[in-house]
Amino acid sequence: MTRILILGGGFAGTECCLQLESYFQNDSDVEIVLVSEDNFVLFTPMLPQVASGTIETRHIVTPIRTLIKKTKFYEDKIKTIDPQQKIVSLYGTHEKRGKRIHYDYLVVALGSKPNFFGMKDVEQNAYTMTTINDAILLRNRIIDLMEQAENETDPILRKNLLHVAVVGGGFAGVETAGEINDFIADIAEYYPTINRHNVKISLIEATPKILIGFSPKLAAFAKNKLVDRGITIFLNAAVTSYDGKELTLKSTSKSNTILVTNSDHKHPNYDVQKIDSLDSNTVIWTAGIGTNEILRDSLFPTPKGRIHVNEFLQIPEFPDVFAIGDCAVIDPEIIKKKFPPTAQVAEAHAKTAAHNLMRLLGGQEMTSFDYSWKGQSAIIGKRTGIASFFGIHVSGFLAFTLWRNLYLSKIRGWDKRLRIWIDWNLDLFFKRDISRLKTMKKTSSDFKELDEVDDVW
Ligand SMILES: Cc1cc2nc3c(=O)[nH]c(=O)nc-3n(C[C@H](O)[C@H](O)[C@H](O)COP(=O)(O)OP(=O)(O)OC[C@H]3O[C@@H](n4cnc5c(N)ncnc54)[C@H](O)[C@@H]3O)c2cc1C
Repeated sequence: MTRILILGGGFAGTECCLQLESYFQNDSDVEIVLVSEDNFVLFTPMLPQVASGTIETRHIVTPIRTLIKKTKFYEDKIKTIDPQQKIVSLYGTHEKRGKRIHYDYLVVALGSKPNFFGMKDVEQNAYTMTTINDAILLRNRIIDLMEQAENETDPILRKNLLHVAVVGGGFAGVETAGEINDFIADIAEYYPTINRHNVKISLIEATPKILIGFSPKLAAFAKNKLVDRGITIFLNAAVTSYDGKELTLKSTSKSNTILVTNSDHKHPNYDVQKIDSLDSNTVIWTAGIGTNEILRDSLFPTPKGRIHVNEFLQIPEFPDVFAIGDCAVIDPEIIKKKFPPTAQVAEAHAKTAAHNLMRLLGGQEMTSFDYSWKGQSAIIGKRTGIASFFGIHVSGFLAFTLWRNLYLSKIRGWDKRLRIWIDWNLDLFFKRDISRLKTMKKTSSDFKELDEVDDVW
């Protein structure tokens, strides 16, 4: 019996698992095991819409058990990976024993974590946008700050409550800023003392541009739309600290200045300013991709925070181990072409790794990974988007519709697609729900070490 163990049930891990099932469905000599912390696949591109309440929380997650047929699934947190002994250990909880799983082949698909570039205070005080919990917390936070500001009479405290700063001008930051801005605009009517224009949303980016992967024309369209809708954009502005109230900034330009959009202009330009800090009680951190702590502490080579793999997606030092998705990068010495850490690439990695495992078990030669970029799209708030596909660039409502159709088709499960489609359409007729359900805690500590009673499997 050959055991293939997959770690991580995100885009890469789930796709790899399903591909392997299709190759080995009738082969009882191959066992597939998947371990993931959550028992669902999360569709991250729609996280900002969960944060703004446009989509119901459970509609963007698909339970892994509804997708798999042959795979043995463990909902658990991985504690260590020992590629020398070929053993992965899992945490126990207060009511279940920890486990050690032996493997013949391993696929590491553990994704990434937010990168705070060593700023502990930012890590502690900022909101993030990578998990379903993050989206729920953020929605609760936005409603809470409106509730608090409504009855706050001190103008400075009120101003700080009503300033939301989003750090990171990539996909996640722009989409989050756009969604939060729409959300606040829609719910302001419930708060009689808050004028929609009292609320300030800032988007902070360390480079001179937002949405760097897009054509300059589309990025400029997005920038103008965001500013038209009241969002202030700060460019060349790197965050240096955040204590929960004050966000300190440093310029990344030679002239030591930060560019700030001037929303008074019909077509916004940038004012050049020296800014050292902004006051905000809510900072959302979407900048930077960091390393999962398990990989950082492992024997795998992670020179720039991601596991270096060869063209077949194997870790050269441990040829029985493949690494795919956001946590992996092909050694630039082997392939110069760059593949950004996106869901598209994660799924393409997964297909190649599964194919190579099938060939390896059959004693055949493996194939090199390659991927041709099909295009990308982003939504930037109400009924507006930007998209480039096969060299064609579109913006506005058409791009927004393209985004919706494309991403809806990518959701796993017809029931989830239908539920999301209904959410979007109900949104046309009904007002936003501002109930705040205080059920989520910021940290969860249900995993603990119970080594003395660990189960070896
Ligand atoms: C807000 C947002 C918007 C995005 N929009 C887009 C977009 O529009 N288009 C696009 O292509 N990409 C987008 N991305 C990027 C995309 O989500 C990632 O590239 C993709 O998720 C990478 O897939 P992955 O399988 O490598 O990692 P993930 O999908 O992150 O999966 C990692 C899995 O590992 C599990 N895991 C991690 N640590 C442990 C552990 N210790 N124990 C057990 N399990 C563990 C996690 O629970 C998770 O299931 C977006 C990301 C975000 C955050």
